[in-house]
Amino acid sequence: MSQHPMKEFYNETFYMAQKQLDAVAETMNLDAGVHERLRFPRKSLIVSVPIKLDNGITKLFMGYRVQHDQTLGPSKGGVRFHHDVQLGEVAALAMWMTWKCSLLNLPYGGAKGGVCCFPEEMSENELERLTRRYTTEILSMIGPEKDIPAPDMYTNEKMMAWMMDTYSNFIGYAVPGVVTGKPVSVGGTLGRVEATGRGVALTAELAVQKLGGFGDAPTVAVQGFGNVGSVTAKFLHQKGYKIVAVTDAKGGIYDPTGIDVPKLQAYVREHGSVEGYHPGDELDLKDIFELDVDILVPAAVANCITESNADRVKAKIVAEGANGPVTTEADRILDAKGVYVIPGILANAGGVVVSYFEWVQDIQHLFWSENEVTNKLTYLMTKAFDEVFHTALERKVSPRTAAMIIGVGRVAEAKKLRGLYP
Ligand code: GLU
Repeated sequence: MSQHPMKEFYNETFYMAQKQLDAVAETMNLDAGVHERLRFPRKSLIVSVPIKLDNGITKLFMGYRVQHDQTLGPSKGGVRFHHDVQLGEVAALAMWMTWKCSLLNLPYGGAKGGVCCFPEEMSENELERLTRRYTTEILSMIGPEKDIPAPDMYTNEKMMAWMMDTYSNFIGYAVPGVVTGKPVSVGGTLGRVEATGRGVALTAELAVQKLGGFGDAPTVAVQGFGNVGSVTAKFLHQKGYKIVAVTDAKGGIYDPTGIDVPKLQAYVREHGSVEGYHPGDELDLKDIFELDVDILVPAAVANCITESNADRVKAKIVAEGANGPVTTEADRILDAKGVYVIPGILANAGGVVVSYFEWVQDIQHLFWSENEVTNKLTYLMTKAFDEVFHTALERKVSPRTAAMIIGVGRVAEAKKLRGLYP
């Protein structure tokens, strides 16, 4: 594939997403025209988001919304507030959302949004003003039939309620289906908050069952203790797995006898970090990737397992709770070592699956029980896991390549059938 002039997207993460697509395009003999269209997003918007800070000063933040593809339906994907947010990264995340939705058979394309800021240093009022002004700036791009945002890093259900309210005020009536991940009282669904972690835990368990030989209490290390990491740890702990290490942005703990996860969650609610938790030893943040455990769950930022540490990964299973935690070079190293990497587009798909259920309930004005949500989530994720597992065996490729073959394949087929307009 020749170099393309669209340099504005280039950053490490976007390059990695493109390389993954290029590799799978070759494996599956993807039509060159479809391949080239899928290498870049369909539509991208850069917005300036000015807000008044609590001290009276006006500050400008850069915001983005990228729609990678809308072949199978409206585009879908979260909004993150983080200091690393930039166009290329958002575009990469939007591309992964396309494959994730397609792999899980959801009638969506992929999108992503974000605002470059330090949310941990902002007050709740400032975050509300930022959320509302950002929503206003991207308003023309979103809508329940067009593009449906959701939570991602450092955004939560409160912010989704503000987004829904801002959009609804512009339209003139309540439009709950414009965002997902809302509180239940404004059209959210039961089971959404825990959905991503529940899915990560489920795919890790399925991998343990399929691969075999792990004994009664497989050991687990979890990097990141936000919504995804903490819920994954909670469910695996409930299933009798031994969580031996946890890190977050500030600190890490290691306890080979097993961490009491509900106790750790209570500690983090009080202290804001796992740092200082007892019992257990202090763990250096970068050492989590090299522990001798059965399962490693990277559930924080992208590009953590790279060619400089992949060789020292001892886990037999890596379940990507985050999006893009393993670089392309690291992926090759892990694959050669026989590590079973459950790709993010499968492992962390529980969030968008339950977002889809929320959207369906909003559109139908008919709400489901938590059991119904959880059973349907388990069904869809188990089915996708099995498809990936068997495709990987049949085609003798890694689970990531298998997941991409399925995800990209469905989009490509739909694109072919729809044809090129005009
Ligand atoms: N931000 C989540 C993800 O990366 C959820 C997206 C959604 O629910 O639309 O999958």
